[in-house]
Amino acid sequence: MTLVCPLYKPNAMGADAGDGAPKRRIPLLIGFGQPYCLCVTTHRGRKYMHESGEQIHRQAAAQSFDVCVAGAGLAGLTAALALARQGYTVAAIAPAATRPDLRTTALFAASVDYLGNLGVWESVAQGAARLAGIRLIDATDRLFRAPQVDFDATEIGLDAFGYNVSNQTLTTALRDAAAATGNVNFIEGSVADARFGAQGATLVLSDGMEIDCRLAVAADGRNSVLRAVSGIGEHKWKYPQTALVLDFEHDFSHNDVSTEFHTPAGPFAVVPLGERQSSLVWVARPERAEALAALPVEELERAVEQRMQSMLGKVRIISKVQTWPLSGMTARQYGKGPLVLVGEAAHVFPPIGAQGFNLGIRDVELVDKLARETGRDGLAKMGERYHLRRVPDIGARTASVDLLNRTLLSAFLPVQIARGVALHAFTGIGPLRRMLMREGVAPGSQLRHLMDRMLPAR
Ligand SMILES: Cc1cc2nc3c(=O)[nH]c(=O)nc-3n(C[C@H](O)[C@H](O)[C@H](O)COP(=O)(O)OP(=O)(O)OC[C@H]3O[C@@H](n4cnc5c(N)ncnc54)[C@H](O)[C@@H]3O)c2cc1C
Repeated sequence: MTLVCPLYKPNAMGADAGDGAPKRRIPLLIGFGQPYCLCVTTHRGRKYMHESGEQIHRQAAAQSFDVCVAGAGLAGLTAALALARQGYTVAAIAPAATRPDLRTTALFAASVDYLGNLGVWESVAQGAARLAGIRLIDATDRLFRAPQVDFDATEIGLDAFGYNVSNQTLTTALRDAAAATGNVNFIEGSVADARFGAQGATLVLSDGMEIDCRLAVAADGRNSVLRAVSGIGEHKWKYPQTALVLDFEHDFSHNDVSTEFHTPAGPFAVVPLGERQSSLVWVARPERAEALAALPVEELERAVEQRMQSMLGKVRIISKVQTWPLSGMTARQYGKGPLVLVGEAAHVFPPIGAQGFNLGIRDVELVDKLARETGRDGLAKMGERYHLRRVPDIGARTASVDLLNRTLLSAFLPVQIARGVALHAFTGIGPLRRMLMREGVAPGSQLRHLMDRMLPAR
């Protein structure tokens, strides 16, 4: 049976598209909630999947988009969705995933609000776990130990600091929402090179295909090719740490409280995931993390239970176990001409205090805002303004996470004393504790407000 795509009109891809037009179109699915269609186009041996909308057919033919997003992790998908919702045509370019992402992400209230504005939170909310409290416990056996610190969301008038959600759920929701805009063309491939000019950028994929755009969003992760070929460069450093991640069931309720044990090798964070279910991020020396990951499941369950002093009763692991080596990186510039860097293409640090993707969301939020302010004609000149506005937030976040991590790892007594004194201050001084909590929920909001007022919009 021959299927005909209802959105395909010969002239749309043939006459106006010129020589570069795809030569074959195979609609796979039609009549699925009109005007939805899903069809595959073959061009120079490469397959494109077009979802919904003739505009996309035309754009694929011309190989030219308003925006190219390199990378389809959490940051890239959020950027593609945000810009597509403004009506921009977006090419989302990424290779097929090599392993599933078994992590969960604790999202603070400001991130949840933004995902709500993008229309994606509703589908995620059902499987998300409320974070009503955060507890920090000094689990070192050092001479000078910090007191336990308890943060309660009600103290700053909130029901929750945020929510914890599985990365797979979040990724699926973002991808579905981006596809539903009808403005995103998902292209399976890797960016290998790029040229940047006053009118925009041309991305060159590893098979030689070229795609033009006015704005290129680098969301291609910590080893970003776009960052490298733009000449931006980066400052990189290592930590002697690897994170072990898994999900588990337990006997007692977590009472919606996330508990972070601070050990001499890094944090051991237990974050609510469901009713009597939690996710674990156990940061340890790399050889210890790999040894733990290789343990038979019953032994690993015992080790997890012992590490948290049976706080939640018996532990039953309900997921696969993954390890994530930790490192640090900041790009020397966050934007340049028609290029902006978001997520781990711009900044990488250890998972302490759940800061990474929350910071990535704020990157995307600013790209979204600037793209709205400048309009299509201004997209190719956004880079420098984006860079200036991201410097304080990324700088402050990277420095504070790095400092906290190093004070844990440090065997130097004065450093341990300073850390203990700071945590004593947070337990004893109410206004300071509340300021810290507000900063956690909407990080950098005061500073960003100030920057917005000081820096020109165009
Ligand atoms: C153990 C752990 C726990 C964490 N927990 C939290 C948390 O609770 N809260 C929080 O906010 N953050 C957390 N983070 C941080 C968060 O996971 C990251 O900030 C986030 O996943 C980064 O997403 P990204 O899209 O920037 O990068 P990635 O997820 O690395 O995505 C990069 C994308 O680029 C693609 N790509 C690579 N090369 C190319 C190329 N050449 N061309 C095109 N595409 C390319 C990849 O295939 C991928 O799709 C945690 C991190 C770790 C390690």
